[in-house]
Amino acid sequence: MGTATGFLDYTREENTEISVSERIRNFKEFHKPLNQTARRQQAARCMNCGVPFCQSAMKLNGMVTGCPLHNLIPEWNERICRGHEEHAMDRLGKTSNFPEFTGRVCPALCEKACINGEHSDPTTIHENELYLIETAFENGYIKPRIPAVRSGKRVAVVGSGPSGLATADMLNQRGHSVTVFERADRIGGLLMYGIPNMKLEKKIIERRRKLMEQEGVVFKTGVNVGQDITAEDLKKDFDAVVLCCGAKAARGLKGFDPEKIGGVYYAVDFLTSTTKALLDKNLADADTETITKAGGYISAKGKHVVVVGGGDTGNDCIGTVIRHGCKSVTALEMMSAPPVTRDEEKNPWPEWPKVLKVDYGHKEAIELFGHDPRVYETTVKEAILDKKGHLKEIVTVQVKFEGREMKFVEGSEKKIPCDILLIAAGFVGCEKYVPEHFGLQLSPRGTTATAEGHYSTNVDGIFTAGDMHRGQSLVVWAIVEGRECAREVDQYLMGYSNL
Ligand SMILES: Cc1cc2nc3c(=O)[nH]c(=O)nc-3n(C[C@H](O)[C@H](O)[C@H](O)COP(=O)(O)OP(=O)(O)OC[C@H]3O[C@@H](n4cnc5c(N)ncnc54)[C@H](O)[C@@H]3O)c2cc1C
Ligand code: SF4
Repeated sequence: MGTATGFLDYTREENTEISVSERIRNFKEFHKPLNQTARRQQAARCMNCGVPFCQSAMKLNGMVTGCPLHNLIPEWNERICRGHEEHAMDRLGKTSNFPEFTGRVCPALCEKACINGEHSDPTTIHENELYLIETAFENGYIKPRIPAVRSGKRVAVVGSGPSGLATADMLNQRGHSVTVFERADRIGGLLMYGIPNMKLEKKIIERRRKLMEQEGVVFKTGVNVGQDITAEDLKKDFDAVVLCCGAKAARGLKGFDPEKIGGVYYAVDFLTSTTKALLDKNLADADTETITKAGGYISAKGKHVVVVGGGDTGNDCIGTVIRHGCKSVTALEMMSAPPVTRDEEKNPWPEWPKVLKVDYGHKEAIELFGHDPRVYETTVKEAILDKKGHLKEIVTVQVKFEGREMKFVEGSEKKIPCDILLIAAGFVGCEKYVPEHFGLQLSPRGTTATAEGHYSTNVDGIFTAGDMHRGQSLVVWAIVEGRECAREVDQYLMGYSNL
């Protein structure tokens, strides 16, 4: 450990946030990093535990706690504390391809398992990771790593989200020639079009893209595999194909079909429209009706917005409509509110804490509108439309569960104004046209099927990873899947793997 008594000498200090009133005026990231001395002190709080739970990824009570990448956290904390950031980055790079993504958006499973957290505050592992990668970029420690030898094998990766990028990075470093095909106009998957700019500025993805291109990865955007290119083409031109197409099939909401009712949108489509318009035209062309108009986006300015779904995607919608200048925002959640503090008996440390999370969007709504936007044990029952078929109001209703069955509470209906309704009710697996086109079997969860712990599909030479395989998850798991899948592909191509 950097210092023997760091966890006693220093209290946890986090990056500061730009005030709500200032940050909601734009879509920029809003955390201000600590200075270097303070950051090194935070790293000194790491105790270099003999059994570092933080890097373990243990499954306890059905949920994982500890870093899924098994990042060598105590090792790099020690080196940060001593001022050896370059060496620290070297250790971080052993297990993680993109710390600049996880350092921004990972919910920090590591910190939930940090032993300091048992009786005090955990080490700021997540922010230390971000400090490390950004310091490494600033100081030129990150340089293109161009493979000295090429294997002569060609791999196509379909989808450029974190799983596709991790697969491509690993296989390219191994010496295989990798081409990434991406349907969208920009790479990154949900990192680009999903997670809003204020959580992850898109220039960060562009920086990684340039680096990977220098290292030899070829990106082809605007190519929809299964439509613009066939499976046969890919099989002919490549020795292996890895499908990392995500799990974008959204769960619908009965009576609220975005195709039929004006003002109803799926959350990811809505978030995508804002980010694309931000990047293309700096949000110059607000278009309150359609997503598809070039450069336009659905603006919530002056509108009453209801988000159906109280999870992380719902929170991103809240942060986004607040930045548009919405008149009000309400988030409906069917489940009951989790407890504010953890139940030490049923949910003890180091299990993932099942407690109420007040995320950035919730905080912003509380400050602007004076209350938490989330309404629990409630859903939407009916849409009330104006003469043009556009949403005007909705009827909400309280719900209760009898076993697994959800029932409406009679007489609890309420009418509230609603110009825009965003469906953030989760996902039901991958879009089916790609697996159908490749002749792949699907799992009962609507994802691509493989043997447990494996990534090869029922079709020879076709592999799959990330949300498409695992179901909607986290960036860190997508990277884990990409790394593990790359090892299996390498084994397939070479007969052995040293990845
Ligand atoms: C709104 C939102 C916010 C989120 N916030 C967080 C967060 O803060 N932290 C976190 O850890 N996780 C978050 N997640 C989850 C996380 O983004 C995903 O788990 C992760 O991006 C999955 O990575 P992936 O590579 O498997 O798929 P994706 O990121 O979904 O990428 C799949 C890519 O494949 C492309 N594709 C699909 N079909 C084709 C085709 N036929 N041809 C070519 N390309 C194709 C798509 O265009 C897309 O670019 C969030 C998810 C959402 C929806
Ligand atoms: S990837 Fe996530 S869990 Fe792992 S060290 Fe970073 S913040 Fe923690």
